[in-house]
Amino acid sequence: MSEGYLSGRTALVTGSTQGIGLAIARALAGEGARIALHGLIDADDSTAIEAEIREAGAPETRFLNSDLRDPAAIDAMMDALADWGGLDILVNNAGIQTTVSLKDATPAIWDAIIAVNLSAAFHTMRRALPDMAGRGFGRVANIASVHGLVGSVHKAPYVAAKHGLVGMSKVAALEYATAGSKTSGGVTINCICPGWTETTLIEPQVEARAAEFGGDRDKGIASLLAEKQPSQRTSDPSEIGRLAAWLCHPASHNVTGTAIPVDGGWTAQ
Ligand code: NAD
Repeated sequence: MSEGYLSGRTALVTGSTQGIGLAIARALAGEGARIALHGLIDADDSTAIEAEIREAGAPETRFLNSDLRDPAAIDAMMDALADWGGLDILVNNAGIQTTVSLKDATPAIWDAIIAVNLSAAFHTMRRALPDMAGRGFGRVANIASVHGLVGSVHKAPYVAAKHGLVGMSKVAALEYATAGSKTSGGVTINCICPGWTETTLIEPQVEARAAEFGGDRDKGIASLLAEKQPSQRTSDPSEIGRLAAWLCHPASHNVTGTAIPVDGGWTAQ
């Protein structure tokens, strides 16, 4: 049940046009936050998503479609939010993945994955954190992955980016640990590390595995889970949304510098 504890707060959720980001935007809106949505779609196509997020409880929304591969576009995005008076909540969620062996990974694949999954979070945090510290309240939730904690074959750029994101978040947590107070809520920086979560990001891997079972999608997913995720259950994006919203609660002020797995036991092995 909604408590409205984010009423009066402002959040930017990158990559929130679908999947985990949209679920996080919905969860933060449900607690009353004003939401800046973001993703690589045309502004005209954002109308329905903005309406959905306002329906979920956001008093105000806006949409930005900056390409996170471009640092200048990220700066422009942060500038465009200045009239909202600074972010209280920053969720670096946008991410891309290509599964390819290290030997076949091209420099272009490496550059794009590092730019979107790692460097973009540097560019947004660098801008957002000083304001958060000034106000004594701030929440950064970086959506890393189990691949920020362990490796898997054919994911070198992605694993490198996600490990980097976990490391950078720890440093930020230390640098801002004393900002604010228990009363103001403090400034925290954490990573959420999902395992298999049902979004379009994992579709190429699901389809490739399903092909080994005559195109049976359920068998493909079961096979992927059997390999890594002991619970044998995928996560729903809404479950990640609930955790992100919990991290933004004032009572979570001492949860900082963590990398929280949502992986059915994958990284416990
Ligand atoms: P998704 O593909 O459904 O959504 C990705 C979002 O990122 C979209 O809104 C897209 O527009 C945006 N985006 C992609 N490239 C961009 C760019 N260059 N500039 C701006 N926006 C861009 O993915 P998802 O599964 O919801 O993933 C969200 C995050 O969760 C990612 O960081 C991903 O690595 C992470 N994650 C996902 C899973 C999973 O199983 N789905 C597991 C672990 C981690």
